[in-house]
Amino acid sequence: MFQDLEMAYDNAFRKLPPSDDGVALIFRGDAVLACGDAAALRLPRFSELPAPLRALPFRYAFTLGSDRFFLADAADADAAQELHWIPSREYRSAPSRAAVFAAAVGESLHRWYGSTRFCGRCGQPMGDSTTERARVCPSCGLTVYPKICPAVIVAVTDGDRLLLTKYQGRSFKRFALVAGFHEIGETIEDTVRREVFEETGLRVKNLRYYKSQPWVFTDSLLMGFWCDLDGSDDVTIQKSELSEAGWYPRASIPTDHSGISLTGEMMEVFRQGGER
Ligand SMILES: [Zn+2]
Repeated sequence: MFQDLEMAYDNAFRKLPPSDDGVALIFRGDAVLACGDAAALRLPRFSELPAPLRALPFRYAFTLGSDRFFLADAADADAAQELHWIPSREYRSAPSRAAVFAAAVGESLHRWYGSTRFCGRCGQPMGDSTTERARVCPSCGLTVYPKICPAVIVAVTDGDRLLLTKYQGRSFKRFALVAGFHEIGETIEDTVRREVFEETGLRVKNLRYYKSQPWVFTDSLLMGFWCDLDGSDDVTIQKSELSEAGWYPRASIPTDHSGISLTGEMMEVFRQGGER
């Protein structure tokens, strides 16, 4: 999966100034600044930045391996010719997993800083906490932490068959598993049962937690579950969410070649004979 890296991800909160060997995560909207070949997603070091970009206000974001990453917004700055703005939908399959991970995590943080410029309770400008990664309102004291939405990915099995779906009205056209966001007041197991029933009309039992994935592209934390069909296998799809849903034997599960998503990994585990 895209977060499985060979180097350590250290996101402990620190206040550090940028240095010449630091890596710049500069965003304009949902696009990150890269240098060299656009398809390679090589993130620039400070020493490679043109002066106007080096002068942006940077925040220390995290350390990946031995590299420190610093975040800035460049909505109004001009980039030099050899630098490119690359939206995340275009760099997800770039060859460097570390660069994809850093850019995607940076984009989620950048989105959060951009949406917490003002206090949602009293409207005053917010500032950074000095002790943790949080935004604080100096007027009313509201503290806002990074936005992370819990969600589930559900593999419903019935013996040698897996329930596969296709989303309605989204750019992602391949097969997927049942998925949905957690709602206030539920356990995450309730979310699994509700989402499966809402999207397909099916009941499930024997929930087994698999693993999680920080799907930072949508500010989500995905939790993968296996479960068994309980009762009728008649699928009634929720047309606002799905274009199709049905049962597929193990041998006809499509292979996932991107290797970045929890959904793809769970489909592949089942295809190869895992989870019964
Ligand atoms: Zn406030």
